[in-house]
Amino acid sequence: MFSLLSSTFGISRPLILKPQTWRIFSSTHVNHALPMDPERRKKLDERNERRRFRIAHDPEYQAKQDEDKKQRRLRYASDPQYREKLLEFGHIWNTRKSQDPEYVEACNASIRARQRSFDKLRVRLQAENPRYRLRKSLHQWCLKHDWVRETLPWKTHQPVLFASKVHKECKGCTRVKVREGVKLWWRKIGDRDESWLCHACHMPMDNHTAAMPYGYEDVTTMEGIINRKQELERTAKG
Ligand SMILES: [Zn+2]
Repeated sequence: MFSLLSSTFGISRPLILKPQTWRIFSSTHVNHALPMDPERRKKLDERNERRRFRIAHDPEYQAKQDEDKKQRRLRYASDPQYREKLLEFGHIWNTRKSQDPEYVEACNASIRARQRSFDKLRVRLQAENPRYRLRKSLHQWCLKHDWVRETLPWKTHQPVLFASKVHKECKGCTRVKVREGVKLWWRKIGDRDESWLCHACHMPMDNHTAAMPYGYEDVTTMEGIINRKQELERTAKG
C-alpha cells in the first residue's frame, strides 16, 4: 500500500529514519525526486497543485481531507494489524529504495538543489537588508580601527575589542555563538556595574541607524565616517 501510494503520488519520506518515525499520514510533503520519469513527475506536480488549490479554496474539500486524515490516525492508533501492515510495507519500500543508488542520488541532488536555491535567496535578502549591511560594516570598522572604537561619540554603548574571544553576559540575548565567546562587545557607557551587549543586540531591530555615533546616523561607509569626523571637528573648532 505504501509503495503504491508513494509511487502514485510521489509522497516523500526520509531515507535513513526508522519506519516508526516516518510521517505516515502526510500527503503534502512532495518528494521531487520521485517518480524518476519526468513526464509522470510533471503530471503529479500538476495534480498536487490542483489539490493544494482545492484545499486552500474549497472548505468542504479541506474538511473532508482533515476528516480522512483523522480517521487514518485513529485507525493507526487503535488497530494493531493495520499499524503492522503499514510499517511493514513502509519498511519494504524503504529498504528497496534506499538500496537503489540512482534513486538515492536523485534524492540527494534534489535536496542539494533546494539548499542552493535557499542559500541564494538568503544571500539576496541579506544584501538588500540595510540593517544587515550596516551591522556587517560596523563590525568590520570596529575590528579594524582603534579610533573608531575609542574616539567616536557613541551613544549608549562603547565598542570594546578583546584580543581573543571572551564570554560576557549579553543583556539582550542568549545566542549560542555569543555564549561561546566573541571578540567584540559593547559596554554600557557611564554604568558602574559593567553591562554588556553583543554586536547584534546593540543594533535596534526597528531603528538600526541608532547604533551609530551622534552625528553619524546617515553614514554607511568608512569614507563617510572619515569625512563626517573631519566635518564635525571643523565645526567644533570654528
Ligand atoms: Zn546579544
